[in-house]
Amino acid sequence: MAEKNAEVPTNRCGFELQSDDIGFSGSDQAWEKWTSPVCCWRPIWESHDETNWCIWHADVDEKPLAELIAARADSPERLDGAILRHLHIQGEALSLGDCTLHGARFDNSKLQETDFTNTDLIGATFTDADITETAFTDAFLPWVAFIDANLRFTDFTDAFLRGTDFTNADLQYAYFTDALLREAVFTNANLQDAELSDADARYASFRHATLQNAVFTRADCRGVTFTSALLYETVFADTRINSTTTFFDPPTTFYDSITSRPGCVYEENSLTTDQLPDDMQPLEAARWVYRRLETLHEKNALSEEARQFHISKEEAERALYRKQGKFRRWGVKTLMGYLTKHGESVQRVLTWWLGVIFAAGILFSISGGVTDSNGTHYAITSLGELETIAGWQALLMNVYFSVTTFSTIMDGGLAPAGTGTRAIVAIESVMGALFVALLVFVLGRRTAR
Ligand SMILES: [Zn+2]
Repeated sequence: MAEKNAEVPTNRCGFELQSDDIGFSGSDQAWEKWTSPVCCWRPIWESHDETNWCIWHADVDEKPLAELIAARADSPERLDGAILRHLHIQGEALSLGDCTLHGARFDNSKLQETDFTNTDLIGATFTDADITETAFTDAFLPWVAFIDANLRFTDFTDAFLRGTDFTNADLQYAYFTDALLREAVFTNANLQDAELSDADARYASFRHATLQNAVFTRADCRGVTFTSALLYETVFADTRINSTTTFFDPPTTFYDSITSRPGCVYEENSLTTDQLPDDMQPLEAARWVYRRLETLHEKNALSEEARQFHISKEEAERALYRKQGKFRRWGVKTLMGYLTKHGESVQRVLTWWLGVIFAAGILFSISGGVTDSNGTHYAITSLGELETIAGWQALLMNVYFSVTTFSTIMDGGLAPAGTGTRAIVAIESVMGALFVALLVFVLGRRTAR
């Protein structure tokens, strides 16, 4: 508890706020920059005989509202360190607008519709408070604790909320338009339908937050953590992000790193599904989130991340088709996944090229081989032939023939020698044409990013 200023007469309060008294969570520099010590000269609260502080600074819960209203001056005042816990303030009976309340205590209070417009509340605490439909417009709220608070419909338009802690807070329909939210903490908060347009949210954390239908139009989200947040139908229009904005935890297991597939909360966590509309399948929500994140990263010129989200979206869609029994679509997606990594990997297509060419070459050489214009026959009839140079020559000739077939150039000097070989020629030339088309498709996608 605070020490009384020794120079103050015994009938005066003498309270002077120190950052240590309130456990200020910001830096010492910030405290010194934005606050100045002031000694309370108010008379001691006489109707309450157990205290030698004024009515504002007495360490008492549930103070009588009528006495507080009577003690409150008409003009804005300095009420640093005021203790207003377990209070029930309804309407505008106690106006605190334009006042300075550094490190004030509002824990467990009911403050509906109280006016905090333009109030300076650095380091104040509202833990477990009920502050619905309250106006904090233009208020100065850095490092304020709103932990577990009910802040539905609360208006933080243009407020300064640097490092403010909203852990577990209910912020449904809250307004943060043009607010400064740098380094603010929204861990596990409910921000459903919240409005964050034009907010400066740099390095804020929305870990595990519910952001369904929240609006981040033109918000600055560089360095923001959205890990494990529920992002279904969240609006990210003209939102600014960069490579330090994280939507998913980096891969933790070897399996994650080889599939390099960011995990969407809707795909893996069954606890989140009760947040979705009844007719919404979690995989559909996951597909929606991935698609939005692909667009968002593309618009912010983060093409590598956009590629990863595209692959994840296609994989979610593939799983969805299988669940819905749409096996034809599932088949096409699966094939495109294997052949082109959902249109994202040139390397994958070229690997298939080489695979098909060598496989067809080997098939040619064992199913009849080829003959050249001189009538020389190149084929392999037993594995033993591969111990001779002639055997390897025959194999290479067949692989060469496979290359000309695949690329549909067709070397006029070589011809398939048997019915089996002719059948393979037919299949391979069709596959060759298809694989060339796939390469063009993937290259086209890559250049378009
Ligand atoms: Zn006082």
